[in-house]
Amino acid sequence: MTNPTSTPTQSLQHAEALARFDLLTVDGYDVRLDLASSDETFRSVTTVRFQSQGGPTFIDLKPVSVREIRLNGAPVDVDTLVRGRLPLDTVAGANELVVDAVMRFRNDGEGLHRSVDPADGKHYVYGMCFMDAAPSIFPCFDQPDLKAPYTFLVTAPTDWVVVGNAPGTQVEPGTWEFETTQPLSTYFVTLVAGPYHLVTDDHDGIALGLSARASIARDLDADADELFTMTKQCFDEFHRLFGIRYPFGNYHQAFVPEFNAGAMENPGCVTFRDPLIFSSRVTRGVRIQRATTVAHEMAHQWFGNIVTPKWWDDLWLNESFAEYMGNRVTADVTEYDDAWTHNAYARRQWGLVADQRPSTHPVAGNGAEDALSALQNFDGISYAKGSSILKQLNATLGDDVFFAGAIDHFTQHRFGNATMHDLFASWEQAGAGDLSSFTSHWLRTAGPDQIVLDRAAGVVRRTPPADHPADRPHTLRVARAVDGKWETSTLSITGPETPVEAGDSAFLLDPYEDTWALVQPDDVTVAALKGLLPSTDDTLLRAGVWNNVRSAFHNAAIAPADVIDLLEAGLPVEDSDDAVFYTMPWAVAKVAPLAPEPASALRRIHDAAMGKVTSAAAGSTLQLSAFQAAVSTSTDPGQLRSWLEGRVLPDGIGLDLDLRWRILVQLAVLGETDREELQAALDAEPTARSRVEHTKAVASLPDAEAKAWAWARFTGEVDVPNYELEAAGVGMWRSGQEHLTEPYVERYFADLPGTVEKRSGWVLADTAAVFFPSTSLTEETVAAAKAFIDSDGLDLSVRRRVVDATDELQRRLAIRQAFPAS
Ligand SMILES: [Zn+2]
Repeated sequence: MTNPTSTPTQSLQHAEALARFDLLTVDGYDVRLDLASSDETFRSVTTVRFQSQGGPTFIDLKPVSVREIRLNGAPVDVDTLVRGRLPLDTVAGANELVVDAVMRFRNDGEGLHRSVDPADGKHYVYGMCFMDAAPSIFPCFDQPDLKAPYTFLVTAPTDWVVVGNAPGTQVEPGTWEFETTQPLSTYFVTLVAGPYHLVTDDHDGIALGLSARASIARDLDADADELFTMTKQCFDEFHRLFGIRYPFGNYHQAFVPEFNAGAMENPGCVTFRDPLIFSSRVTRGVRIQRATTVAHEMAHQWFGNIVTPKWWDDLWLNESFAEYMGNRVTADVTEYDDAWTHNAYARRQWGLVADQRPSTHPVAGNGAEDALSALQNFDGISYAKGSSILKQLNATLGDDVFFAGAIDHFTQHRFGNATMHDLFASWEQAGAGDLSSFTSHWLRTAGPDQIVLDRAAGVVRRTPPADHPADRPHTLRVARAVDGKWETSTLSITGPETPVEAGDSAFLLDPYEDTWALVQPDDVTVAALKGLLPSTDDTLLRAGVWNNVRSAFHNAAIAPADVIDLLEAGLPVEDSDDAVFYTMPWAVAKVAPLAPEPASALRRIHDAAMGKVTSAAAGSTLQLSAFQAAVSTSTDPGQLRSWLEGRVLPDGIGLDLDLRWRILVQLAVLGETDREELQAALDAEPTARSRVEHTKAVASLPDAEAKAWAWARFTGEVDVPNYELEAAGVGMWRSGQEHLTEPYVERYFADLPGTVEKRSGWVLADTAAVFFPSTSLTEETVAAAKAFIDSDGLDLSVRRRVVDATDELQRRLAIRQAFPAS
């Protein structure tokens, strides 16, 4: 990775943001960028007009070099720019700052990211300012509550198209003028520029656009109808629910390369990771994930973009709200009416696991002192748990009050900033009553309650997390099996013990995820599930069963052997490709290695997957998801080869880029391919996806050279883009390759601190997580990790990832201890 600046910069302190907010009002930014003169750097000439109370302050700026700075016409000494901050001596009233600087294109998915498509050598650029990268594109007062309008003028190569937050026009070849935007926070500013393939449409007076790299133009065209249709359906629904028009002009959705997040909600120009443009067949669940992402980013246009958190510690509210609305609107108005089932498989455990980590935190912000520490708590709790709690709030208040409060919030703070307190005041105003108890128990107290059935006592016990006392009421459905059928009733929990009639029947708590709590099946239920799971046709309830089982496994409360039994029992009747897509890889990666006989467990999973490939309708996405699982569990090189060569493929399965690479990666794990064959496969289809899969395959080979090759990417000795770096980490640590990887356990803790010199932001943290020695299931590794966590001077994001990975390792050791291999 390219380090964004030659010197480290400072994270903005909350106190500094408050002081600057009191001092300044920003009238506007005029930004002129020249993207045409170099592949490495670009010229950025920015005029900032602002009002000041008068006195000293600073502006954020992270350039390669500065040509000239003038404040109110007078030159400013360039050497005063230190660690990303330029001191300014402002006058009372109107001020004008002009900065002429040279900035660096980045390759870590932040700032102005520039990448080369390996398929055709074309260059692509996009801006990602979240959360503190804007100053590496233009000088700015980089905090969410100093909003201002932006006017961009961009010079680019003549074969490029340039899209921004506001509508733009190419006024002469290579020169693009943009209209002035509505007031935006600095972290929303973007620009998407390159020889992108563009598709346009319009709806209800809003010009719609889609774009992706030229080499995947055909794939974008194939999906354009689906994407435009859901975008239009969502616009209609958001307009109906909010009663406030989308105010940012055009709505462009850009699919961009090497994007770190799923997507970013920049007003008028949302950016998405471009693996969301499918070059191979995908499951329905993968399409639902894309649909909910589209709807999530649209929800942000109101919640987040019209009204923005005043400070980073309220960022969770953006995400919780968009997550809830994204699922709801997708389920209600698009073809993906099973979006909530998808959510149960794809998101629930993400939040629940995060909430059980030692690093758990309240959903609501903790008054983070600086920007970077606020970012540490931006996780599954902010999205999945927060969304679940807003869903509960909606169920309690009803739509009328819920949306009246939201609309009041949008109206009162339009194009401004607000806090959680403001939103809850709007809800109370709208008739919600006193919400202080709700916020303190659900949003300001960390951890999930545990809700457990005590069969002998005939009660359900509610236990708040030991370190985070709370008194939370729960309203949830329970399912009791009577004569082989599930009967559902509603249970209201208001105290530590609630009487229930379970008898000796299987009994499931919260199978429909009405509340947020840790629930697990008891032994009687586990024993009965093998018969009951296949006998219900309720897809959402089956998803609830799997979440119960996964929570139990996470807490060493169900034997790996029972999980494999359940998988074998349930798979034949399963009709949701999400069930297969999310349950099978989890069973392969987490359960099988801890089963009494891992090889036999893996074979049983494989046989179950193959059974499903045969029994599912030929050509269905259910069959596809089963085949994906069959590939990644195959230990038979002959079988894999026959698939790769297309000799004996199951009816309904066609080889495409995705499946070819899945097979090659599995052959690599088994040591049944070599670098030459992998290189030939890459050369035959040198796409961006192939490069990533090629990296994963090479790193997975069971030899010392492969592990050293992957390690050179981790340490930064070999510089590769973010997706390839992640793939190298996935390939590095493979169950069954411990004899090769054990020497790297010590090296991980020795080399990790040095990675701070090589990379920053998302990539730094993600790399720390993916290269963690996850297959080293020993007390020694836990001890080494704990010593590392306790060491001084660690980067916050690196430390956080190691804390979480260590917790995972300890839990896996606990499962092994509870269920030894006899
Ligand atoms: Zn979001």
